[in-house]
Amino acid sequence: MGNRLQKYRGCLLAVALGDVIGSKYEWMSSRDLNSQFKTPLDVIHGTSLKEDAYYTDDTQMTICVAESLLKDGRINRENLAQNFSESYDTWRGYGAGTRAVLNAIYTGATVEDASVAEFSEGSYGNGAAMRVAPLGLYFPKNQELLRSAVHDASSITHCHRHGIEGAQIMANAISYMVRVKQFEIDEYWKVITNAVESNNFRLKIDQAMSLSSLDDLIEYGSDISALDSVPTALACAAIHHNCLLTAIGTAILIGGDTDTVASMTGALVGALVGDHAIPETFIKAVDRDNKKGATYLITLADELEKASNKQ
Ligand SMILES: [Mg+2]
Repeated sequence: MGNRLQKYRGCLLAVALGDVIGSKYEWMSSRDLNSQFKTPLDVIHGTSLKEDAYYTDDTQMTICVAESLLKDGRINRENLAQNFSESYDTWRGYGAGTRAVLNAIYTGATVEDASVAEFSEGSYGNGAAMRVAPLGLYFPKNQELLRSAVHDASSITHCHRHGIEGAQIMANAISYMVRVKQFEIDEYWKVITNAVESNNFRLKIDQAMSLSSLDDLIEYGSDISALDSVPTALACAAIHHNCLLTAIGTAILIGGDTDTVASMTGALVGALVGDHAIPETFIKAVDRDNKKGATYLITLADELEKASNKQ
């Protein structure tokens, strides 16, 4: 178990670790993945990061949330929307709904109008949950401030109630992981169920609590909706809470939306165990030519740790 600073660094670096490795297998089936790799650790150690260890939208938007939070001391929706828009690299695998929102913001639409640019009820995808880690780290003990910040950060691109609810659940789970010195499974699920609002999520989380193996996770499945991916990541993190690399490798072997489920799983277990669980070779490789690579993520984690003491 890492100390407090190691836990903050572990969380943000594992967002990128899951994203970078997971993005190489996105939309592969569990059958193909499990015939290619014998174990979850084979996925991690068998993936070359020599040439193209680039992160995708998951990490890029997580960085935006951390930057805006640290700059404003809260979530200012307009400023965060602007940061999303200015940081948007089109080749980093953004989903269709988020692309439409960011294009609308770029052409001058208000955040309110942009949020329904693609879907009239807003997106129920996992794009708000995948970037919520900095909020869980910033407000580890203040649920009211956390709730309001998650709502504001999520509703820019995912104003559907399930898109926001998935982010609320993930943020609360990350807060739990960074707060505790010892993982207690009953307490973990209690924190999660306390953040649930809808019957749809309640049903999915109830099922997730009983999963205990890769086969269970594969049968349970993963997809791009918050409802079909956040509980999967929560269950994978619970099963493998003591080994970050196994947790991320397992999340990938489930198949489907591998970068986001592995990134969310990484955020959870990274916040529990800390950054010493992450290979140095990976830290050196991730987005090595980008000034917002792994070293920058460590700087953001350190600043979030410092600022969270005042919350
Ligand atoms: Mg992605």
